[in-house]
Amino acid sequence: MRITTKAIIETVTELVGQDVVPLVKYIKDKKNISEFKIAEKIDQEVNQTRNQLYRLHGHHLVTYHRKKDRQKGWYISYWTFNKKRVTHVIERIKQTKIEKLKQRLAKETKNHNSFYICPKFCVRLNFDIATDFEFRCPECGEMLKQQDNSKTIDHLKKQLKKLEA
Ligand SMILES: [Zn+2]
Repeated sequence: MRITTKAIIETVTELVGQDVVPLVKYIKDKKNISEFKIAEKIDQEVNQTRNQLYRLHGHHLVTYHRKKDRQKGWYISYWTFNKKRVTHVIERIKQTKIEKLKQRLAKETKNHNSFYICPKFCVRLNFDIATDFEFRCPECGEMLKQQDNSKTIDHLKKQLKKLEA
């Protein structure tokens, strides 16, 4: 699966937050970039940059290795963006969506044209529960109306097809 920049940005924003976007845009196609260089390139403090990198690391979205700087005598971390992880996350989100849609579709199909809805939209009940309430809205007391859910079923089927394509 090829992954677009848009998909990468959406995923990291969702998981880590909007503030990491400039950093991710900078490192996404590079390898082993020192945190000092990243901070400089995106014009940000090193501490803030480290904080963002650790947060990304918390979601396995970056990997790093440490190397001792011979001249300065301290350790520097070199970071690489983990595109595979993004692909994996996107695939997982998609599968969850598909599962939920399938469950909804099964429920709608099983209760085809036997949902009952309050004219004031307080509730939507299946036949058995509507019977328990004698076809009156448990919230406001209005008579419930039988609902044609064919359009909902069609809509769910279309959404599923699109996701599974
Ligand atoms: Zn009602």
